[in-house]
Amino acid sequence: MESYRKELWFNTPTRRAFINITPEVEEGLAESGIAEGLALINAMHITASVFINDDEAGLHEDYENWLEKLAPHEPVSGYRHNLTGEDNGDAHLKRQVMGREVVVAVTGGRLDLGTWERIFYGEFDGRRRKRVLVKIIGE
Ligand code: ZN
Repeated sequence: MESYRKELWFNTPTRRAFINITPEVEEGLAESGIAEGLALINAMHITASVFINDDEAGLHEDYENWLEKLAPHEPVSGYRHNLTGEDNGDAHLKRQVMGREVVVAVTGGRLDLGTWERIFYGEFDGRRRKRVLVKIIGE
């Protein structure tokens, strides 16, 4: 069995962002030379997510609005977590809803995604360097 590991780094200029990372994951898969196996892609921070859905701007705006309703950033005093002096209580909750990782089958050297499925990095407390792990195993 072959094993491949890569870190993708991000530093979003905004607090929140959704980034299509499918091309970077495909690049990693090509580098790995693995044709049959599994790819795990996970955020390495507790205020960011990796998830799969449609690459459609309206949907991303819907996520933003929905997540702000569920866990509004303001007022930051509304979160017990922020009593630590942080202001990212909302970002921890948003990450929980959007998930930590995805696993994608690798078939014939390609990501075996559904027609409209794309892999996204979800940032909920950006403006600093953060990373995503890509781990691919197979043969
Ligand atoms: Zn925090």
